[in-house]
Amino acid sequence: MDKAAGGHPHPLTRLLSEAAEIFGELGFEIALGPEMESEYYNFDALNIPPLHPARDMWDTFWISQKSKVKNQNSKSGRMLLRTHTSPVQIRYMEKNKPPIRIISPGKVYRYEATDATHEAQFFQLEGLMIDKEVSLAHLRYVLRYFFDKLFDRKVASRFRPTYFPFVEPGLEIDMSCSSCGGGNIRCGLCKGAGWIEVMGAGLVHPKVLEAGGVDPRRYGGFAFGGGVDRLAMIKYGVPDIRLFTSADLRLTTQF
Ligand SMILES: [Zn+2]
Repeated sequence: MDKAAGGHPHPLTRLLSEAAEIFGELGFEIALGPEMESEYYNFDALNIPPLHPARDMWDTFWISQKSKVKNQNSKSGRMLLRTHTSPVQIRYMEKNKPPIRIISPGKVYRYEATDATHEAQFFQLEGLMIDKEVSLAHLRYVLRYFFDKLFDRKVASRFRPTYFPFVEPGLEIDMSCSSCGGGNIRCGLCKGAGWIEVMGAGLVHPKVLEAGGVDPRRYGGFAFGGGVDRLAMIKYGVPDIRLFTSADLRLTTQF
């Protein structure tokens, strides 16, 4: 009889455990939250009240109101499949006093068509640091440390201003293209731009701190979030996000 084949960690599992280790070196603990969330934690508490136009930024799977499913932790409103891992920020702040340093990995859901770079379900990695006098310089240091260790090289990164309701100022984080090093118009990863968008981030909005029971006059902090699948695609050179859930063993046996 043939010897049974050995198991292999899935590339996403592998990337998540590496990320946990790197952030662990900086004193970040892991915090988790439910995938089925209430409208309150997913939107309202993150400074996205009902009818706020920013809600359109997240195409949401709503849970049918006829369903008997009830969440004991639901503060108010309708239930949904969380569109980001940011609700964990609120849940953690409600139960823990600053200083806070957490990362929160987990599945998130978007009501959208799938293609090579989009899935209706994917993994996100959230980070939150709350303390006295936390600035963008701290965010910059932490992310630089993370990228350099994860990709095992000096990774150039840049901040671009943008808008997210739960941070002020809000930023997109780009990293230098690992495939072409920049400038190759035929590069499938950056299309010649030399930069790849990998995260959203910013300084936590005072209203979000208040929703978590943290006094914004005494404390501040940064938050970031990015797609784990995207980081894994870049790190391992996987061309299509759908391969991660394809159950094709040729993918996992490489790891
Ligand atoms: Zn490139």
